[in-house]
Amino acid sequence: MQGIIDSHAHVCGKVLFPRWDEVMERAEKAGLERIMIVCTGVEEAERAIEIAARDPMFDVACGFYPNDILKVTKTDWSRLESLVKEPQVKAVGEIGMDYFPYETTVPKELQREAFIRQMCLAAEIGKPVIIHMRLATEDTRAYMRTYLKTPGIMHCYSGGYEAMGDFLDMGMYLSFSGNITFELDDRSTQKAVREAPLNRILVETDAPSLTPAPVQGRDNEPCFVTYVLDHICRLRGMKREELIRAVGDNYRRLMGG
Ligand SMILES: [Zn+2]
Repeated sequence: MQGIIDSHAHVCGKVLFPRWDEVMERAEKAGLERIMIVCTGVEEAERAIEIAARDPMFDVACGFYPNDILKVTKTDWSRLESLVKEPQVKAVGEIGMDYFPYETTVPKELQREAFIRQMCLAAEIGKPVIIHMRLATEDTRAYMRTYLKTPGIMHCYSGGYEAMGDFLDMGMYLSFSGNITFELDDRSTQKAVREAPLNRILVETDAPSLTPAPVQGRDNEPCFVTYVLDHICRLRGMKREELIRAVGDNYRRLMGG
């Protein structure tokens, strides 16, 4: 039987990395075959690359998250530019736009600049992108139209049904996470889950965030991606094995291997 792929997990971050062994034991028990380790900083990425070099279960993505941009130094940028060329790094991300009103919000202009710079970096090295888009569908889509040259993943897709077609046209895959299991989730995203073409769907946890509703209260981890799979199966009326197979094919088509 084919294994499950979590296309987005922050397992080398400060919450889950100290518990690596138990987290991975549960992941393997749950049937996970491959995990994309998404790293938001250069040290984290170096750690992930080392792990992925030893174990083919792991891929790495690294990039600067829109709300971290103020902390990113010139040295960080040049380290990122060389790290993304490592063979274990399969994608540049997560990058994008985030208009959620945090206490300290990074000005839109700075987010835009960093987003464009990283889309261009992905184009230069010919690797996919992983896009973070929160309450910023219009701008994200507009910048992608101009600067995106490689396919990629709309991570934790919540852009709704109407916008879905445009992202698909740009070669993007839609990755769904625990957010679709929340009762208050918007209907437009549920519709996107039901109507998205099967050959463009991925699943993810975004661990340790976005714990699916049935296990809420715990830190999220890759083994809980099964709740996302089951929820999609319920909404689309399909079998779990069929979805796991499609997700695996999609991930390999995009990331290789
Ligand atoms: Zn993430």
